[in-house]
Amino acid sequence: MLETKNLKFESNNYLKPNTYMKIMKFGGTSVGKPERMHQVKELITRDNQKKIVVLSALSGTTNALVGIGDALADANKTLAKERIDTLHKHYLAFYKELLKTESAQKKAEKIIAEHFEFLNIILKISFNEAINRDILAQGELLSTKLFYTLLQELDIPAVFLPALDFMSIDENHEPELKKISEKLESILSNYADESFFITQGYICKNHRNEVDNLKRGGSDYSASLIGAAINASVVEIWTDIDGMHNNDPRIVDQTRPIAEMSFDEAAELAYFGAKILHPASIWPAQHHNIAVKLLNTMEPDAPGTTITAQEVGIGVKALAAKDGITAIKIKSSRMLLAYGFLRKVFEVFEKYKTSIDMITTSEVAVSVTVDDVSHLSEIVKELEAYGAVEVDQNQAIISIVGNMIAESKGSIAQIMNCLTDYPVRMVSYGGSRHNVSLLVDAQFKNAALQSLNDGLFEW
Ligand code: ASP
Ligand code: MG
Repeated sequence: MLETKNLKFESNNYLKPNTYMKIMKFGGTSVGKPERMHQVKELITRDNQKKIVVLSALSGTTNALVGIGDALADANKTLAKERIDTLHKHYLAFYKELLKTESAQKKAEKIIAEHFEFLNIILKISFNEAINRDILAQGELLSTKLFYTLLQELDIPAVFLPALDFMSIDENHEPELKKISEKLESILSNYADESFFITQGYICKNHRNEVDNLKRGGSDYSASLIGAAINASVVEIWTDIDGMHNNDPRIVDQTRPIAEMSFDEAAELAYFGAKILHPASIWPAQHHNIAVKLLNTMEPDAPGTTITAQEVGIGVKALAAKDGITAIKIKSSRMLLAYGFLRKVFEVFEKYKTSIDMITTSEVAVSVTVDDVSHLSEIVKELEAYGAVEVDQNQAIISIVGNMIAESKGSIAQIMNCLTDYPVRMVSYGGSRHNVSLLVDAQFKNAALQSLNDGLFEW
């Protein structure tokens, strides 16, 4: 199930109405080529509405930066240097295609020189985790500065808004929404007449005032946090696919975008592998009731997917699957008529900070699934004190999502009818009204997804 976060929701009074502003977030592929960056410029200037534009790093850059950090962590400076040089070359080719005028090109040269000088200096000092996070931040800093330079070249007035001036997380790595909101409101109040603000996704400051980040794929989360912080009219997430699909288009033949879905449905799908949206990015929008739109840079007029509090339609809406799942069964006759058994079992998982996704119980056994197996052997050892333990690796959770799915007549029969050829190891039904989850051996995942796709949707 979706992990519930320990969020403290303070009163919302700090949210000032800023409903005239919208957020437009562009992912790595949307800024990854010079011509795509030009297209982003087209998209943000289609109307004059005030907007904060949140950019990811150019596609491939964050992976490359991770590679540089890994090489340094291994004390392999030669490899790190090679990787820095390869990335450097990429940027030197990029700006020449992006910018036409000499003055803009000069600016870009300076920006690129500065950031790669920084990476080269890091080669000379001793490496640690804080430095690694500094390395990871370079991608978004570069993409936003180059994009800003493009806007300057085209005489489009815009404000450069460094995310490190307002985006922060606390010692538990939770975003400090109230502070973010106050800082942003105060910064924005200096620019009453400006329309376009450019900022970085992903990066932030931590409680030690060091550069940090919102974890991989975190730019969506940045966009949603910024939207909540300024009470934006809408958070638009621009990617290279036309919205959230009813099934994984990389696996299944025939899928279609879903026009409207609720925050709850989107949260279930984002968690269960629908790669298009970072799962954490739902809550800020949901709690502040800000619509999220998933749109396609390549097809800007396609409707995409709109996510709001409204529950539209009843029954199966979409499927998603997550593999790399391990099922653990604890069987004990002592469970029979005993109380406190489940607490003891859960405490073992809690002790090893391992979150449980699915649970099913019978009178003498309980099965759970986890995706983090880093403490599996310790967990199994401790569980053996309570009964016989069986472990099944290489499982997949298939999640079927839709409003009231667990209450609409016949839906479970329809689902099981599609799976007569595949053994189902666990079924979770009724835990939420919007979700039915099944566990199958990973080898059946693709075929089961296809069969459900053919049987549950009308084509
Ligand atoms: N650039 C970061 C990453 O690749 C953040 C993001 O793109 O969302 O993970
Ligand atoms: Mg992403």
